[in-house]
Amino acid sequence: MIIVMASRKLEDIQHVVDKVKELGYIPHVIEGVEKTVIACVGEERGKESLVALQALPHVEKVLPILKPFKLASREVKQEKTVVKVGSVAIGSDLFCVIAGPCAVESREQIMQTAEFVKGSGAHILRGGAYKPRTSPYSFQGLEIKGLELLKEAGEKYGIPVITEAVTVEQVPVVADYADIIQIGARNMQNFGLLRAVGKLNKPVLLKRGMMSTINEWLMSAEYIMSGGNQNVILCERGIRTFEPETRNTLDIQAVPIINKYSHLPVVVDPSHASGVWDLVIPMSRAVVASGADGIMVEVHPNPEEALSDGAQSLKFSKFELLMREIKPIVEVLGRRL
Ligand code: PEP
Ligand code: MN
Repeated sequence: MIIVMASRKLEDIQHVVDKVKELGYIPHVIEGVEKTVIACVGEERGKESLVALQALPHVEKVLPILKPFKLASREVKQEKTVVKVGSVAIGSDLFCVIAGPCAVESREQIMQTAEFVKGSGAHILRGGAYKPRTSPYSFQGLEIKGLELLKEAGEKYGIPVITEAVTVEQVPVVADYADIIQIGARNMQNFGLLRAVGKLNKPVLLKRGMMSTINEWLMSAEYIMSGGNQNVILCERGIRTFEPETRNTLDIQAVPIINKYSHLPVVVDPSHASGVWDLVIPMSRAVVASGADGIMVEVHPNPEEALSDGAQSLKFSKFELLMREIKPIVEVLGRRL
């Protein structure tokens, strides 16, 4: 249920919050531009209805939330959420570019890439330290050493960093080193992991599972938000279809659908969606046009020698070309790079 407040005074809001708690629901106060609303979540069975709170002074109305996702829904919060990572505001008029290698492989590799992508206008540096690989015999990432190198590169070149936590145990250490914690496609419904990052006060980029519906994806965002962490960025990364030409199929329609149902920022990863580097630039152009808040692309100094995902990684000159090609589209949409 959503309680729309008629007053914005702290004591009036607190009074309603206390009543909601007394009834056994969890209140989340959301300050909108025009009104303050209190989203009340929790199992309704066996509890007194919140509709009775309509009688309280300073309450304008009590409405049901129709979608199964609540805190992630536009019904609860109409204004777009802006997730701030240092000076980078994801979900604002900025079109955010996240770039870097699939995995951190060496100091030289991550330093060179950080310097290049930052110099070309990227806003956030990516690099996996713990890699969720299909085969246990494939390169699994440099782990703690990878986190150290990524952080060092981010600090040296003045760019925030994102990296994935694959297990619950890795969450505290990844949170220590990264500015954004990535939850990978394979873990989108790892509810223990979602709850663990939901307790943090650190931005989380939640990738869409390769076999997940948009509704399931938003329900996973809800897990994180219901734990108290509202700093969620959604990332479409392609879904599995019958089309064998590409690694996955980029569901570009997910972007306007997310923008319709949710206030959370949404970015797109055309690298994992396509699996081939020469589709990354055309798909990035389409991503900008779709109304997404950014892209995440894999960039490597020498893709032929990459220890993971070389086939979909852009070499430096192609990343520079990508930045040049998306710029006019970003600008025509009234955004900036
Ligand atoms: C990644 O971005 O490093 C990754 C493993 O992607 P996904 O979880 O989308 O497969
Ligand atoms: Mn990868």
